[in-house]
Amino acid sequence: MDKLSARVKRLGFSQTFVMSNKVREMKANGIDVISLTLGEPDFDVPDTIKKAAFDAITENYSHYSPVPGFLELREAIAHKLKRDNNLDYKPTQICVSNGAKQSIINVLAAIIDDGDEVLLPAPYWVSYDEMVKMMGGTSVMLPTSYVTDFKITAEQLESAITERTKAILFSSPCNPSGGYYTYDELKSLAKVIAKYPQLTVISDEIYEYINYETKTTSIAQFAEIYEQTAVINGMSKAFAMTGWRIGYSACPEWLAKACEKIQGQMTSGPNTVAQRASITALKTDPSEFRYMIDAFEKRRDLVYELMSTIPGFKVLLPKAAFYFFPDISYYIGKTLNGKLIANADEFAMFILENAHVGCVGGLSFGSPECIRFSYAASEDELKEAMKRIKETLEKYNH
Ligand code: PMP
Ligand code: GLU
Repeated sequence: MDKLSARVKRLGFSQTFVMSNKVREMKANGIDVISLTLGEPDFDVPDTIKKAAFDAITENYSHYSPVPGFLELREAIAHKLKRDNNLDYKPTQICVSNGAKQSIINVLAAIIDDGDEVLLPAPYWVSYDEMVKMMGGTSVMLPTSYVTDFKITAEQLESAITERTKAILFSSPCNPSGGYYTYDELKSLAKVIAKYPQLTVISDEIYEYINYETKTTSIAQFAEIYEQTAVINGMSKAFAMTGWRIGYSACPEWLAKACEKIQGQMTSGPNTVAQRASITALKTDPSEFRYMIDAFEKRRDLVYELMSTIPGFKVLLPKAAFYFFPDISYYIGKTLNGKLIANADEFAMFILENAHVGCVGGLSFGSPECIRFSYAASEDELKEAMKRIKETLEKYNH
């Protein structure tokens, strides 16, 4: 008897975790694999943040917090949004969750009914499409490519909007492309969005700090769509706190209230110790954590130089986040070591099995001609990984 719900049957496993689990299995079998699969900083949590967590335990922050998070944390988030993004939010507009992942799910659950459409500029982060499906919605992909810097245009956005379109969901800086929308590009998207008041923009800004160029802009800055925007951010990437599970949304009050209602029935407020530590993290001047970004930038330059010499890889220099997303369409349809490569996921598997380097195929990011590498790894690992891939492809590509 099949007991599974239709909801879970239409859902896929998170491809980032599928590939990282494969690497883990190979390592357990004694194979020397370099994992460039999961996107998570390889730094430890900074000591000041750890100390705040120890203090929280000593001070007995051991009871339920308010469902949307401690007021002091929401005040710190409001302060951060003003300081870094020039955005005005009241604590009543903020909901703190178990990671940005839950923040996005809350917002989707609050606005999506069966059959509603959510626009996803592709490539998108793997979980977006699955989250939309989970909520009964339909994802509408807006394709982009290497040639357009993986970004959509305002015209492309407008032509995809129908009366069923409820939201557009995107990350800028983007996981997986490593690009981001400029002020002017966001302004032109905002102009279109303002014409369709039924639309909510879910703007995932979790890679905001990991940026090697100018400061990024939040689309919520455009006054005409402030009331239509949900800003998503969190502690995972900027403070190397992936396992601490703190993310947040900043929205119009009606939407924040809906997120609180959903979260109050699902998980309650997130972990209190991690919330207390997040207050310290957010109140600290971001320059204190700059050393991580500087290290990522150095690794980015190293990988760019090495990856650009791999035959058949079309590589853009990422401006932000910690991913490379090369176009590998050159290999699709070829036979490598006796295996026909039908798509990017099969190519990623070929790289894993033959070069012993883990990466993630582009299919679940909506870009079947690309593969994703996280460069949140040591310089030695990155050098060795690029060497292995290059040698493997030189050996098998005839
Ligand atoms: N958005 C993007 C674009 C991401 O890459 C991630 C990766 N973890 C998340 C959201 C979720 O982050 P978390 O749940 O760890 O806060
Ligand atoms: N966001 C990271 C990634 O894209 C972590 C894994 C996940 O949450 O899917 O690899």
